Amino acid sequence: MSQSLNILFISSEAVPFVKTGGLGDVAGVLPKILRKMGHNVRLVLPRYYSIDINKKNIHHLPGPLGVPMGILGELWAGVYESTLPDSDVPVYFIDYEQYFGRAGIYTDEHGEGFKDNDNRFVFFSRAALQLTKRLFFTPDIVHVHDWHTAAVPVMLNTFYQHDLHLASAASVLTIHNMQHQGNFYPGLMDVLSVGWHHYHPLGLEHYGQVNLMKGGIYHANAINTVSKGYAAEIMTAEYGYGLDGVMRDRCKSFFGIVNGIDMQEWNPEKDPYLSEGFSAKDLSGKEKLKAELQKKMGLPVKPDIPVIGIISRLVEQKGIDVIAEAMPGILSMEVQIVLLGSGAPWAHFYFGGLAAHHRDKMSVVIGYNEPLAHLIEAGSDFFLMPSRFEPCGLNQMYSQRYGTLPIVRATGGLNDTVDNLNEETGHGTGFKLYYLSAKSLFDTVGWALHIYYNRKDILRNMIREAMSRDFSWERSARKYEQLYRIALKKKRGRHYRISALPEKGKKSRKKKT
Ligand code: ADP
Repeated sequence: MSQSLNILFISSEAVPFVKTGGLGDVAGVLPKILRKMGHNVRLVLPRYYSIDINKKNIHHLPGPLGVPMGILGELWAGVYESTLPDSDVPVYFIDYEQYFGRAGIYTDEHGEGFKDNDNRFVFFSRAALQLTKRLFFTPDIVHVHDWHTAAVPVMLNTFYQHDLHLASAASVLTIHNMQHQGNFYPGLMDVLSVGWHHYHPLGLEHYGQVNLMKGGIYHANAINTVSKGYAAEIMTAEYGYGLDGVMRDRCKSFFGIVNGIDMQEWNPEKDPYLSEGFSAKDLSGKEKLKAELQKKMGLPVKPDIPVIGIISRLVEQKGIDVIAEAMPGILSMEVQIVLLGSGAPWAHFYFGGLAAHHRDKMSVVIGYNEPLAHLIEAGSDFFLMPSRFEPCGLNQMYSQRYGTLPIVRATGGLNDTVDNLNEETGHGTGFKLYYLSAKSLFDTVGWALHIYYNRKDILRNMIREAMSRDFSWERSARKYEQLYRIALKKKRGRHYRISALPEKGKKSRKKKT
């Protein structure tokens, strides 16, 4: 796109300030890439009290921000300002102690969603839009993410439809995970205060509740999810969590754009977490890292035994129950397993116990450990990720970049980003199972081990292919530019005009579309 756009990102999390999952990565990285492409991007986040306002170069903006909250009246928020690291992308934090001054982002220490999550995120959504007036910022695009900010497109189409700064803003909603939709008690309509006439099945109502994701899907000018595969899947009853019909309704404005990865952070040639660098041309460093991994995990240091790595939240979505069922069979083969993760307590006990019984074959670390994650990605031969569903997934991309061949279930982003081995041609970057069961997982691991032991030629070719794949964010960002263009056309018609002023020193080019 040759014209620069004013883009307002509104997200409930973004690296490096706050992250619980892939959404945090997208919201922290994509704005910077779009900025490099010449767009004028601003990001709004809640000011959770886990964000240290002293450390990250954060300043307070003078004066309170009025946020209308229906029957709760007008609430007054504070605003802090900073920038995304290594960029000039402004970040604004909405401060309201009653909603964000607590430990936890979405849930309490027991993993229970906060009882006031409805008001917390409706407030945040409204505050982010109110902020544009304070900043005199006229966005062309308002880009929101998941249910937490899905009320924004509804607000744009109601409160702000004649607003000086927001009337012509096109809205884009990115769905990172359809499982969480923001279903709340209908009384939330009185806080949203967009009018009860929006409480119907083609708006905010969903089986007697307010469903914020549904409202966002019906009101956004364009919608996307984080892979083409997942986009197709959530239009089916199996993956749509009750909103598959809604997605089918909006299929003409619905797209899939796969996430990128940080190619600097995950660079096998110079990864600060690793004692050795390596490349597709020279894999000797990878061999040394394999030995280092085996040693660190207390496994016999044997270069000829294949190591399968697992790094995961230990939850059902990741197919962890199926891994558990298949593991005794897998351990009967000549293999070593390295597992890093945390999640369901039963999984901690089960995998820990299994490792204790198979000390020479399996090693488990329960917890979150970034340096070890890098070593596992680099030092393993294979990476296991048989997710039940996977909107995009990152680990399968990291592992390919590190020449560690993924064994994945063919679902969502896993299916899109891994090429299944074709033994006839020798091409492929991983191994896929289609039907999720312990038997097919066992068979697919067996297939990978067969290639490891008997077809070194194919194995080397696969590693080379995997390491040369382009998973850069730049590629994804160019697709987001196209998505913004589609949203603008839907909002403003074919011959739309944009708001962003040309950068100083650059001539603007008028362009007809
Ligand atoms: P999801 O976001 O669904 O958990 P992804 O594969 O998209 O799954 O991303 C997971 C991210 O979290 C990856 O960067 C992965 O390396 C990291 N990760 C997950 N569990 C751990 C862990 N126990 N220790 C270190 N990193 C982890």
